[in-house]
Amino acid sequence: MSAFTVDLPDEFLNCFYIDGHWVPAASARRVSLVSPVSEEEVLSLLLASGAEVEHAVAAARAAFDTGPWPRMTAPERAAYLRRFADEVRGRLTLLARLWTAQVGAPVRFAQGLIHAGEDRFDHFTELLGGYAFGERRPTRRGHARVVREPVGVAALIAPWNATFNIFAHKVPAAPAAGCTVILKSPVESPLDALVIAEAAAAAGLPPGVLNVVTAGARESAELVASAGVDKISFTGSVPTGLRIAEAAARRMARTTLELGGKSAAILLDDADLSTALCALTPFTMPFSGQICFAQTRILAPLHRTAEVEEAYVSAVRRLWVGDPWDTATDMGPVLDARQYDRVLGYIEAGRAEGARLLIGGGRSPGFDRGYYIEPTVFTQAAPEMTIAREEIFGPVVTVQGYRDVDEAVRLANDTDFGLSGSVFGADVERAFEVALRVKAGHLAVNGFEISAGVPFGGRKLSGQGREGGPEGLESFLETKAVFMPTP
Ligand code: NAD
Repeated sequence: MSAFTVDLPDEFLNCFYIDGHWVPAASARRVSLVSPVSEEEVLSLLLASGAEVEHAVAAARAAFDTGPWPRMTAPERAAYLRRFADEVRGRLTLLARLWTAQVGAPVRFAQGLIHAGEDRFDHFTELLGGYAFGERRPTRRGHARVVREPVGVAALIAPWNATFNIFAHKVPAAPAAGCTVILKSPVESPLDALVIAEAAAAAGLPPGVLNVVTAGARESAELVASAGVDKISFTGSVPTGLRIAEAAARRMARTTLELGGKSAAILLDDADLSTALCALTPFTMPFSGQICFAQTRILAPLHRTAEVEEAYVSAVRRLWVGDPWDTATDMGPVLDARQYDRVLGYIEAGRAEGARLLIGGGRSPGFDRGYYIEPTVFTQAAPEMTIAREEIFGPVVTVQGYRDVDEAVRLANDTDFGLSGSVFGADVERAFEVALRVKAGHLAVNGFEISAGVPFGGRKLSGQGREGGPEGLESFLETKAVFMPTP
């Protein structure tokens, strides 16, 4: 085993965080972290057994049913969350380093984006200060009190690609609402949630409010199926999301599902290409295309397709592929051997089905180790081709031509997904009108932003529910109406 590049406390290697304590794992099952750069095992970490998952659920259940947390006033909870956010802030450098060390996110990318997670902690703390958890509405007999109550125990399940930032959408929102939580870490990046647990402990969150385990598919499914869990907030792939939706439906457990995407960027005929591509290119294959809202389908007017292809390919050619620890690197390796083979399989399918390769198409030259794939662009990718339909989750982008705006919208919507999309054009109100016609949860005009106060989420197979903003808080609340006899 070669050395892990980040120093870690012993608890992270040998314990889970349950009921306010670092609990040595009873099971001897461990998971190997393999560096995407060296292809060598760099660390081995614990995997929870079913009994440990149950222990975490029982702790969260007791903290919700009889503990102080859901019974506190919003300002009392906000005071805890403020300390929690500060403790997380103190660990941001570590979290960014872990993003690179565990899954190979380029260090410049990780250092820049980690602040989106920080903002989410601050946002929910502030939101809690002014949020109306109850209101009165007049009725014929008297009035009704409409009360928003915490949904209960929430299982928060994150994928490997942006684990801290994704937990940062869920973790402050659920306890802000008064819920108690179990963070279920992905096996590929198990450390982020343990850092969050350390921050929660330092902030003095009462025992059982926040619990952390790492578990594989079987024990994660047990968590989802547990009668002690009232809400599942899941981010990950469509197949797992569908399984969770089915399991939750059996007992009407609440769900928020943030799933995959196949998002289209529509370049309108009046778009200024150089400014549009400057904004768009980094979001077409961010983190080697392993980001859910990557704009992987570029739609260009037919009469400008050649010009778009040339300009985009030249922007992609300038992406520096290298070691993720190098600050010059734009693109590192993909996660692992499975992901590497999968992405190369999609590239092969693109060729076989008749799309025309403009750049890339194989292993990145110059690397004898590591899961490096060249930034790859196809054109003439017909809508029915596999590469135009399926989420590749790798550095592969298609360019498609369209005749008129109606066709652009039709192509953008010709997908089972509905997560994100973008429109570029000189007239921003016209671009806005086009954005309204795209069936996705998250659209951008002439550039991209990540904002903690704005809801994020998908339509169709990209999921249901929203995270971020008041909508994200409300996803952990239930509404109750109490009819009162007096005005
Ligand atoms: P995945 O579905 O394989 O795993 C996600 C999480 O679910 C992991 O923690 C995993 O251990 C757990 N899990 C696996 N089987 C489970 C089960 N039966 N029950 C409960 N949990 C289970 O996804 P992945 O490969 O880790 O992540 C990549 C996917 O995530 C892509 O499709 C990507 O688009 C999506 N994603 C979506 C968003 C979003 O906000 N919409 C953000 C990031 C990633």
